[in-house]
Amino acid sequence: MKNNNKIIAANWKMNGSEELMKEFSQLTRAKRNDIIICPPFTFLDSAKTILPDFIKIGAQNCSEEEKGAFTGEISASMLQEKSVSHVLIGHSERRTLFNETDDIILKKVKTAIKSKLTPIVCIGETLSEKEANKTLQVLDSQINGSLAKIEPNEQVIVAYEPVWAIGTGLRPDENEIKETHLYIKTKLNQHFDTDIPILYGGSANSENCSQILSIDNVGGLLVGGASLKKHDFNAICNC
Ligand code: PEP
Repeated sequence: MKNNNKIIAANWKMNGSEELMKEFSQLTRAKRNDIIICPPFTFLDSAKTILPDFIKIGAQNCSEEEKGAFTGEISASMLQEKSVSHVLIGHSERRTLFNETDDIILKKVKTAIKSKLTPIVCIGETLSEKEANKTLQVLDSQINGSLAKIEPNEQVIVAYEPVWAIGTGLRPDENEIKETHLYIKTKLNQHFDTDIPILYGGSANSENCSQILSIDNVGGLLVGGASLKKHDFNAICNC
């Protein structure tokens, strides 16, 4: 993907259907943005056949293990065989509901990279951490715990998602997004050889997308709720 393009990634979570996939076959080519859709595992095959070619397919998770007796798990190499190019790792729902620690996230990132997938690593503070003025401290520790431990020449994408903004309709203001993205960028630049795209996620929609995308160091969007509505998602893709 070209560095100057913005990346729009859709996280369908445990939602969607074959019908929705068919509706999304009508998405129009985004002029400036690279589009990635991350449906549930069971829709990965149909995503590949139904969605237009310009859309890349991502998964929402992968196992930290490569293979073996891990009932119910799916490895990064299995995803790669399904023509998946990206994988979300460390989404806040995985961190809180499935107890994923930075150590687990680091293992998942490593196995994804080994299978030639681009990890989209999610970081962000909870409301209580924000209220305690600990946002930058939390980001620092999440980056140190996973991203800063992979090889500096690897290709990754980071998604900054304040947990309190996910699915709530709440959002940090422009200055807050500017400040956190600059902080993340500076920290990533100290470690990585190349420019790492930093997506913003949390209640992004077709009305606020162009404002958020115009903020310095915002390399794209990770979209949850609004990515399930064809009309809205098409507008975001062409933002
Ligand atoms: C998400 O879950 O990654 C997300 C950004 O959700 P929403 O857009 O619904 O806030």
